[in-house]
Amino acid sequence: MVIQDDYITFTLPSKKHIALIAHDSKKQQLLEWVNKNKEILKDHVLCGTGTTARLLSERTGLNVKGYNSGPLGGDQQIGSRVVEGKIDFIIFFWDPLESQPHDPDVKALLRIAVVYDIPIANNQSTADFLLTSKYMNSEYEHSVMNFNKNINERMNSF
Ligand code: PGA
Repeated sequence: MVIQDDYITFTLPSKKHIALIAHDSKKQQLLEWVNKNKEILKDHVLCGTGTTARLLSERTGLNVKGYNSGPLGGDQQIGSRVVEGKIDFIIFFWDPLESQPHDPDVKALLRIAVVYDIPIANNQSTADFLLTSKYMNSEYEHSVMNFNKNINERMNSF
């Protein structure tokens, strides 16, 4: 970890911690995509929101750790792991045609992925591009806002 001024350089590991999430109308699509890409995904650490994780585990044989179901806080749990640096990659097939009871949580997760500059695919073509990236199997350095400096500056403003 290199501390520069406004940003800190973090390193995404070559073995990624990947969160897999799909809204109900997209679960079949994600299941097929994961099955197609099993050989690549099996070399990473997988997790997901409750129902998605269970579905993927039972139908693909991959080990996918499950958090709570999305509407019961699963997206927020995954967001908190991103903040802690424990999840560094997200595949999230969300439904653009239906509103969800937990829309604020979905928006929060999308936001936190941008704040922490982690790869996030929200549709299949992006997921295909990400998975075939040369960075999939190597470390990747990225810049994240220097939270200590940010807090210091905010403190000094009061
Ligand atoms: P689920 O949650 O995997 O428990 O269905 C996904 C979501 O809607 O965020």
